[in-house]
Amino acid sequence: MCADFCNLGKQIRALERSDADYFHFDVMDGNFVPNFSMGPDILRSIKKITKVPIDVHLMVQEPIRYINEFVQAGADILTVHFESSNQIYRTVSTIKQLNVKASIALNPASPLCLIEQILPELDMVLIMTVEPGFAGQELVPFSQDKVRRLRRMKENKGLKFDIEVDGSINEKTIKDFAKAGADVFVIGTSGIFFKPDPAKAMIELKRMAVENIGKKYK
Ligand code: ZN
Repeated sequence: MCADFCNLGKQIRALERSDADYFHFDVMDGNFVPNFSMGPDILRSIKKITKVPIDVHLMVQEPIRYINEFVQAGADILTVHFESSNQIYRTVSTIKQLNVKASIALNPASPLCLIEQILPELDMVLIMTVEPGFAGQELVPFSQDKVRRLRRMKENKGLKFDIEVDGSINEKTIKDFAKAGADVFVIGTSGIFFKPDPAKAMIELKRMAVENIGKKYK
């Protein structure tokens, strides 16, 4: 959602050289969040031009309605918001039946206990570090502590899911989130897209993350 849509192909090519592990694809429905963004047709077009796995973040109400469509369009990971549905277990099971990685996102004010029961079913948990919906927002201050507590929970239970952080991740914040125990870092407006060389900025951010992952979560 932070890319220049008139130059999407060009930006994807540039970022492929950056050693990014995924492309993060934000979907918004104007209902669950007060904004709109890309849908399955754009995903299908991106999938045709890249082999980098695509991490699809569904910020939509009752996402179970769209899972099949996004899987057909090329999603490799599907993230749904806990707050967006009354049938999260069914939604996660549907994603897994389609052989796609399943992830649940939590808004800043949603506590970790909401997903405790379903953690063993998940491949990833996305901790929103800003309210979802818009690029370029200020970090919510208690996000790092939340990541640290989730990392502890993961280690204590011996689980394997990745911890992803999304919102305001840049050269000022990435080290602390890595130390807190995040594994996957969504980089957008503040991290790369306004930099003169986004791929170079990405490589540097990845280095900062890798050097610090899990150093301080205990
Ligand atoms: Zn996102």
